[in-house]
Amino acid sequence: MAGNHEVLSRKYRPQRFQDVIHQNLAIGALQNAVKSGKIGHAYIFFGPRGVGKTTIARIFAKRLNCQNPIDNEPCNQCDSCQEITKGISGDVLEIDAASNRGIENIRELRDNVKFTPMGGKYKVYIIDEVHMLTDQSFNALLKTLEEPPAHVVFVLATTEYHKIPETILSRCQDFIFKKVPLSVLQDYAENLCKEENTKYDSEGLFWVAKKGDGSVRDMLSFMEQALVFTDNRLLGTEIRKMIGYHGIDFLSDFIKSLVDSDNPSKSLQIIENLYQEGQDIFKFLWDSIEFTHTLCLLKDSAADSESVNYPREDLIKMRKDFESIDLISLNKLSFRLFELFEKVKTLRLRNSFEIKIFIEIQIKKLTDDLAKPSLAGLVDRINHLILMIQDQDSAPSNNFEAPKKQSVAPVKEVQTPPPPKPTIESNEKKEISQTPQATGGFSSLEAMAKDVSSEDAEWEKSFKNEFLGTDVDPSKVPKLGL
Ligand SMILES: [Zn+2]
Repeated sequence: MAGNHEVLSRKYRPQRFQDVIHQNLAIGALQNAVKSGKIGHAYIFFGPRGVGKTTIARIFAKRLNCQNPIDNEPCNQCDSCQEITKGISGDVLEIDAASNRGIENIRELRDNVKFTPMGGKYKVYIIDEVHMLTDQSFNALLKTLEEPPAHVVFVLATTEYHKIPETILSRCQDFIFKKVPLSVLQDYAENLCKEENTKYDSEGLFWVAKKGDGSVRDMLSFMEQALVFTDNRLLGTEIRKMIGYHGIDFLSDFIKSLVDSDNPSKSLQIIENLYQEGQDIFKFLWDSIEFTHTLCLLKDSAADSESVNYPREDLIKMRKDFESIDLISLNKLSFRLFELFEKVKTLRLRNSFEIKIFIEIQIKKLTDDLAKPSLAGLVDRINHLILMIQDQDSAPSNNFEAPKKQSVAPVKEVQTPPPPKPTIESNEKKEISQTPQATGGFSSLEAMAKDVSSEDAEWEKSFKNEFLGTDVDPSKVPKLGL
């Protein structure tokens, strides 16, 4: 690499609106404002870090003062554009409110605002992290916003909109900037690799984009590190090593060992091996939580590549590997692992050995608990059995379709239905409604189903109150006499 290395985020900082990715709504509105000459005095740019707020503010400032705009874009050639690019323009002032939050900074700004622009038409003040200003500073800024000189434009950038006083917000136009989706970041990273003649594969691009977490700046910063670490090769296998990712086979083995009651010591062996290899067990615990949570999302069909931390190929394999383990067990496991993670965090154990010992004890307890059936699993099982009994009972001599919901009635003695409400219907119908096995009369059956289901709810409530939060001993499960 040449000695005069320029960091990627600087090298590829967009200089025109069209070079910014994924902020089309905000950019379109700003370009329209310039086109129609309706320039506001103050704008709030709100959105997560590193998505292009200050970059767009600079391009906007350039466009406002450009001597020779082309297609509603700054020319990047004229004196004004070049000065802004170099950061030496007297007409564009950037203030970082995180480090200049005091009243004296804003007073200085107020004094400066009076002066007309030197080269361009507008003086543009870009206040970054504006929510960091003190109350006094906000008050001082408000005075300027109340009666701004015609040549002044404020761009207030923030990641925390709710911390800005209402009085300020009411004088600004809001622009919302969005996180950049994973797929868009992946495409962007791929273009950069081509531009930089860097070797890459799709998993490498995935990790780079994922580490960006919606932010172009964070992605570029990670890519910069990865290029050094991997000697200019953005390959999945190399980046895995760099970020200490254990890979799904390893995590799969661990999670399976927790639910596999035949081999209870395997999970402990995995922890021991990690410890011997000097790996971070606490991080591994978090990876396991993320893995299990993703499995739950996969079971729920709620996982997509934007929301989870795994390459597409891994997701396919995970779905297949855990086909036989039900969602209830996985949810329980994910919750219990998270509880353990929280405990380790709160205890502030002194070293990795203490962490290992504590995790081993807890994992042992966890595997013992998991071997017992869960309440939800039992209720499911009981309801399933009742369904089977009812299906058997109702199979013959049925000349109507039974209400479907009624089939979830849980175990209990057969209840006599409540007496029918007085009606002017025929005696024949009354008789039908008094006989549970009667066939016919949809309305009376519906009424009956309603009564039964309200009793069911009562029963379920008392059952839950009795057992909720407990693990049920299998020997206490009621015999169903099947
Ligand atoms: Zn220009």
